[in-house]
Amino acid sequence: MTNKLDPWSSSEINDYSKLFEEFGISPFDNVLPEIPSPHMYMRRRVIFGHRDYEQIAEAMRTGAPFSVMDGFMPSGKVHLGHKMVMDQIIWHQQMGASAFVGIADREAFSVRGFSWQKCREIGVEEYILSLIALGFKPDGLIYFQSGCESVKDLAFELGVKVNFSELSAIYGFSGETNLSHMISVATQAADILQPQLEEFEGPKPVVVPVGPDQDPHLRLTRGLAGKMSMFRVEERENANGEKYLSVRGKGAPKEALQELKKRIPAKVKLYEEHIDVLQTPDYAFLERIGLQISQPEKREYFMTQIQEIAKFANEAKPPEFLEYEKYFVFRRIWKTTRKILEEVVAEVAAEFEGYAFIPPASTYHRFMSGLQGGKMSSSVPDSYIALTDNPKEGAKKVKRAKTGGCVTMEEQKKLGGKPDECSVFELMLFHLLGDDEELLEIRQECVSGTRMCGSCKQLAAEKMYEFLKDHQEKRELAREHLDEYNIIYKK
Ligand code: SF4
Repeated sequence: MTNKLDPWSSSEINDYSKLFEEFGISPFDNVLPEIPSPHMYMRRRVIFGHRDYEQIAEAMRTGAPFSVMDGFMPSGKVHLGHKMVMDQIIWHQQMGASAFVGIADREAFSVRGFSWQKCREIGVEEYILSLIALGFKPDGLIYFQSGCESVKDLAFELGVKVNFSELSAIYGFSGETNLSHMISVATQAADILQPQLEEFEGPKPVVVPVGPDQDPHLRLTRGLAGKMSMFRVEERENANGEKYLSVRGKGAPKEALQELKKRIPAKVKLYEEHIDVLQTPDYAFLERIGLQISQPEKREYFMTQIQEIAKFANEAKPPEFLEYEKYFVFRRIWKTTRKILEEVVAEVAAEFEGYAFIPPASTYHRFMSGLQGGKMSSSVPDSYIALTDNPKEGAKKVKRAKTGGCVTMEEQKKLGGKPDECSVFELMLFHLLGDDEELLEIRQECVSGTRMCGSCKQLAAEKMYEFLKDHQEKRELAREHLDEYNIIYKK
């Protein structure tokens, strides 16, 4: 069965692993060891996939600038599904990201037919208050799309690079689709690219944490990032199968190309055969791999990297690891070279009023299921817990939730329960239990039949009551301090 990813319908994702093959999403396990203190969703595999998250992990490790960006369509009640996204925004902000949160009122206006006033009310009352209550820091930017001039201008420019056929292929748009809906798609791409505008200190890695249904936006935006950029740094392969890096500037102004040529050769070659040069690193190495960086500070940076790598290579003693080490060392040089090229290219593009967008990275998290099994649905209040639910009512919903337990206690003692089919366990996994060991213990007890559903429900209901009570108090505090936050409203 083919997975259909459509952000405007809640199509079920039957098999997450298929997304890896069909859409080129990488398993998150690959990048997990590179992340300093991974978030609970990462450790617990709630986040299962990513695109280009390596660059975010590296920025976290090195202290380089990066951003996190996400958006919420003001459509109804803020619930635990939204909390998952907010938790990830806030965690990245704590890890050093500059944070951007867009309230997608243009989308709500065009898709739901909501008035601007209603969008504002829902945006503030539901999403912004909860975001702040969960820990969003005031140095991040929150904006309504309709009030953000830079997003609107960028959306218009992006519109030049996308046509109706592409939108039909990605989103299934037809002749009936209204024009504003199409504009809202360009606006979302602009939301994602906005953190890389000059007014926000230019190109940098940006991560967008999403559910897999939002991937079409990411694919469109990644494509647009390339089309909008004045130059492209590409990995290419010659007839002998040797890889090299190349900078292309198709359509770039002549003066910009000349300036770029002054700073780097038109084509930069970095072949694996040059790996041996590492043993005696010197400035001539730069020439030999075809890289000439004119700015002294960049040469300095590059040489520091090379020396560090060479030291590492010299320390690689056991001969059986030599081949592996060589490969590893080569990849680091390659990455460093590419990074420097991208920086130079971005500088020249900015000088000539062009863009140098880095394609956005993304993470993909599992959806929560409905409390009664099946999907969460906003039209069935018992299927989800809103962050504004009365705490007592929230606790009752937990007690009414479907479990993965057996019909009788005797059966459960004999056969054990099924935590992977249990919405109470899911609540603990996603939200209520921060302690991994405690969670694993509950899982173990469930599977072995020594735990009964009543005790889980009691524990989860108490934790839910406490969480909602505390969260709602913090929402009231957030309301009092709203003017300390950087929020752009529609004028
Ligand atoms: S014992 Fe707990 S985890 Fe296991 S099925 Fe029952 S409620 Fe779910």
